[in-house]
Amino acid sequence: MKSIRVEQLKYKYPGSEHFVLDDISFTVERGDFIGIAGENGAGKTTLCYALSGLVPHFFKGSYGGNVFIGDLEVYTHSMNEITARVGLVFENPFSQMTGAKFTVYDEIAFGLENLGVPREEMHRRIQKCMQQLKIEELRDVNPFSLSGGQLQRVAIASVMAMKPDILILDEPTSQLDPQGAEEVFQAVEQLSAQGVTIIMAEQKIEKLAAYSDRILLMNKGKLICEGTPAEIFSRNDLDDYGVEPPVYTSAARSLKIRQDSAATLPVVLEEMPTS
Ligand code: ADP
Repeated sequence: MKSIRVEQLKYKYPGSEHFVLDDISFTVERGDFIGIAGENGAGKTTLCYALSGLVPHFFKGSYGGNVFIGDLEVYTHSMNEITARVGLVFENPFSQMTGAKFTVYDEIAFGLENLGVPREEMHRRIQKCMQQLKIEELRDVNPFSLSGGQLQRVAIASVMAMKPDILILDEPTSQLDPQGAEEVFQAVEQLSAQGVTIIMAEQKIEKLAAYSDRILLMNKGKLICEGTPAEIFSRNDLDDYGVEPPVYTSAARSLKIRQDSAATLPVVLEEMPTS
C-alpha cells in the first residue's frame, strides 16, 4: 500500500475565486523523502495542509478528488484519526512551542500527556525522539533559549513523539541560518532512513536536490512535473516557475556540458585545464 495517494485533488479556500490546488495527482512510497518546490503562492503550504487534514477540515473550502493516507481517506475522517498518522511541522518553530513549559523534555511531553500516554511509555518515546533529533543534551534547557536550528529539532521531536508514519514539513528551514538549516536537513534525512515518509516544502532547491528522492514542482496550484532531482534540474524552463536551478546546473549550462551530469561538475571543473 502506498504511504500517500493523491487523486485529482482540487481545493479552493472559502470565498476564493480560484482553485489553489488544481487537479493534483501523485503517490508516495513509505520511507520516501519528497521535496515540494515552487515559487511563493504556488500552493506548497496548501498541499501540506491537504495532506495533514487541515484542508478541508479546518479551512472548510470547496474541494474535489481524494487524499489517502495509507488506507485512510482524509476528507471523510476526523482530524484526530489523521493526526495520529501525519505530523506537521511549520516554518516558524516558535509558533509550535506551547510556551507554558520550562524544559525541552516538558515541551515534548506536552502532547503525549494530553493523549494520556502512560508515564513509562512517554519517557521511552521522549528519550528516543531526543536521540533521533540529537537534542539529548538540551533536555533540561528552556526551549526559548535555543538557536533556531535547535528549536526546530525540538518541534520535530514533539511531533515524532506522537509516532506518525508521515512527517510533513512546510519550509522548516526558511527562518534558520545555514548551520541550523543543515542540522534540520540531516535530522530529517535520518528519520527518512528509519522509514518515516517525509514531505518537505522548501525554497532552498539545492538542499532539496541533495536530500530528496523525488521533487514535485508546483506552479499556480498545478503539479508541473515530478521526478528525481536530476530529472527536475535537467529541465530548461525552471526559471518560468520561479525556481532558480542549483548553481552546478547553471554552471553546466553555461559550460554547455550535459546538465544531467551537473552533479559531477565539481570533478569536471577540477580536471579542466586552468590555462
Ligand atoms: P506557497 O506555500 O507555495 O507560497 P500557498 O499554499 O501559501 O503557497 O498559497 C497558494 C495560494 O492560496 C496563494 O494564492 C495564496 O494567496 C492563497 N491562500 C493561502 N492561504 C489562504 C487563505 N487562508 N485564504 C485564501 N487564500 C489563501
